[in-house]
Amino acid sequence: MWEAINKFKGGNIVIGAAKTTWDEKSTDILLDAPCEGPVGEMMFMLDFFLREHNLRELSKITVFTPGKIFFDDVGPKIRKKITTIIVKKGINVVNQKAISSIDAKSVHFEDGTKLPSDLTLIISPYTGPNVIKKSGLGDKYGFVRTDRSMRHPIYQNIFVVGDCNANSMPKLGHIATMQADVAASSFIKEISGKGSVIEFKPEVFCIMNRGGTEATLILSDTLFGGKVDRTLDGPLAHLMKWGFDTYSYYTRGKLPPDLVQNTMEKMLEELK
Ligand SMILES: Cc1cc2nc3c(=O)[nH]c(=O)nc-3n(C[C@H](O)[C@H](O)[C@H](O)COP(=O)(O)OP(=O)(O)OC[C@H]3O[C@@H](n4cnc5c(N)ncnc54)[C@H](O)[C@@H]3O)c2cc1C
Repeated sequence: MWEAINKFKGGNIVIGAAKTTWDEKSTDILLDAPCEGPVGEMMFMLDFFLREHNLRELSKITVFTPGKIFFDDVGPKIRKKITTIIVKKGINVVNQKAISSIDAKSVHFEDGTKLPSDLTLIISPYTGPNVIKKSGLGDKYGFVRTDRSMRHPIYQNIFVVGDCNANSMPKLGHIATMQADVAASSFIKEISGKGSVIEFKPEVFCIMNRGGTEATLILSDTLFGGKVDRTLDGPLAHLMKWGFDTYSYYTRGKLPPDLVQNTMEKMLEELK
């Protein structure tokens, strides 16, 4: 991808997520695109890159979504903020477009339409690992339904957290770590009889880098019936992502200490 971007000298760019199909018996939330954050990061960072290389005027960026609306997993306040930035950057968005094929010069959709494209960036449909598909532990797409304590409904000694949990929706590292906390508390309660099982209260939390020192933070639980719909845009959001990435990189994947996370949560409370 990096090679293709470096060779690009202007033209049509198409970015989007392919439509993912779910087993309706496994998950209560059926998102056509189970995470549009990566699409958002790609379009904004590419816009930034092209401006830096004096190629933006020579390029048209079009983003497609298989969903009814782009970023349909967040609240209206966040969506409004993202839309404002998209409009400011001159990016076009087309909704309800399920990709059927691509060739060297275009992206084709199931409804018979196509978009001209000299540079195409696609998130492929999500699927679970083969090991789960073959094991019979999950559905035909390789995702496993669990109860609220992350246990397999039949094999109670099996806990499933992260993207391969069918109810991880959208597919987010933040949700994976929340599920891990729930599973760990359930496991501890079982072996020691102490504590209680943490309640699973999912939320969408991610920070989209937008190139340079810009980033957009998203915190929302409206998809799960809540009212949290907060966003923070600018260098502070970028600094938070940089801090998280750097800590995680140098500690080989650890999450920042509770103190840092609690401070961040307090700060986000102020954004109400
Ligand atoms: C571009 C991009 C940006 C993202 N940004 C964010 C963000 O800002 N915030 C956020 O919360 N989430 C973000 N996500 C989503 C996040 O990365 C995933 O939700 C998260 O990594 C899921 O964690 P996981 O442990 O379930 O799965 P994974 O991280 O995919 O880990 C699964 C591991 O299992 C290994 N594996 C698979 N099969 C086998 C096997 N048979 N035997 C042994 N090992 C196996 C794989 O190699 C892999 O290392 C982003 C995703 C992408 C693609």
